[in-house]
Amino acid sequence: MKLDVNALRYLSREDFKVLRAVEMGMTNHELVPAELVDRIAHLSCGGTYKVMKNLLKHKLLHHDSSKYDGFRLTYLGYDFLAIKTLVNRGVFSAVGRQIGVGKESDIFEVATEDGTILAMKLHRLGRTSFRAVKSKRDYLRRRSSHNWLYMSRLAALKEYAFMKALEENDFPVPTAVDCNRHCVIMSLVQGYPLVQVKQLQNPDEVFDTIIGLVVRLAEHGLIHCDFNEFNIMIDDDEKITMIDFPQMISVSHRNAKMYFDRDVECIFKFFRKRFNLSVQENTDACDGSGSDIGEPDRPSFSSIAKTTGLLDKQLEASGFTNKEQDEIEKFTEGGTEQKDSGGSDDDDDDDEPTAYNGQGHDEYNDDAAKNLDSLHLEDQNVSHAEGDTSERL
Ligand code: ADP
Ligand code: MG
Repeated sequence: MKLDVNALRYLSREDFKVLRAVEMGMTNHELVPAELVDRIAHLSCGGTYKVMKNLLKHKLLHHDSSKYDGFRLTYLGYDFLAIKTLVNRGVFSAVGRQIGVGKESDIFEVATEDGTILAMKLHRLGRTSFRAVKSKRDYLRRRSSHNWLYMSRLAALKEYAFMKALEENDFPVPTAVDCNRHCVIMSLVQGYPLVQVKQLQNPDEVFDTIIGLVVRLAEHGLIHCDFNEFNIMIDDDEKITMIDFPQMISVSHRNAKMYFDRDVECIFKFFRKRFNLSVQENTDACDGSGSDIGEPDRPSFSSIAKTTGLLDKQLEASGFTNKEQDEIEKFTEGGTEQKDSGGSDDDDDDDEPTAYNGQGHDEYNDDAAKNLDSLHLEDQNVSHAEGDTSERL
């Protein structure tokens, strides 16, 4: 998705007030009626409707009158709110090129005032998962009380919390810098996704390191759940960094063993195919062909000494609790990069998951609204800090 941040420079204090008002209205409205936007924005000189026209022109808002007349944020509008908040906080001051398109995210380079380049991940939950499941009526009904805005925010918060906790426990992950709404700022990993690497100097060592990580995660009570060549970065010195954490689960999850085995299998399969690693097809059979690095056993989930709850305190410190974990797990369970990647079946310009609440549910349930409220971070400053950023981002 294109992210043209130019308009950001020209948006006024009023524009952001109105954008924020629509966001607040969306807490319990699928589409926010113009009068409600006006009431929430409470512009001292009036003119909400004119401002909304400007926001529509810049594609920050979407107008819909199919069910009733109202407005909602577009991805771009939500991006702008998050970017503005982070710029106001001094986290970065410029947005650069796009460096990644994940299955449910867009990743850009951003630059700090002193020229340091960081990575910005904008979560787009609902982009593929939603489409992949929209035919499953039961699934949809259960989730109709949430929207992409809420789920993307939750995914970002989870990613940020896990990244922080994992780094504190010496896992090779990017450094988590900040988080707002659906946006996570982290250090830029030098290197490439393993899927792009055709040759390795030491495939055996890299393989051991990666399998060692799956095991050590389990020892810390966690399973990545999407641990594969797309989510492992490797640099020229063959140093590994793992990324992409919104789907991580606890080893006490009812399907923990299955997810653990699946992560392990992904790595074995990839190394077998790409680097001719000869490994056992399953626990009691081996392929018998010549081996570069021997025939390592698959780590067994049951024999790993697992400590649950080790990271819980650290996760909670970042605002991510079991409640949020339950919520997001219901949505993300089962989806993996390999299964879902490239699944943008009906992608078009306006790729908002508009149908998310499109089953006759005009409002989310109270619980969802409360959850969303509790996730409203300390960004009330959106409206009061514009002054100092009008010339730059
Ligand atoms: P998704 O959840 O959508 O799969 P990822 O977190 O896996 O998103 O990121 C998608 C791609 O963006 C990665 O494969 C990688 O190429 C790039 N990327 C993500 N995070 C970083 C980072 N911190 N530094 C450099 N590149 C990154
Ligand atoms: Mg990924």
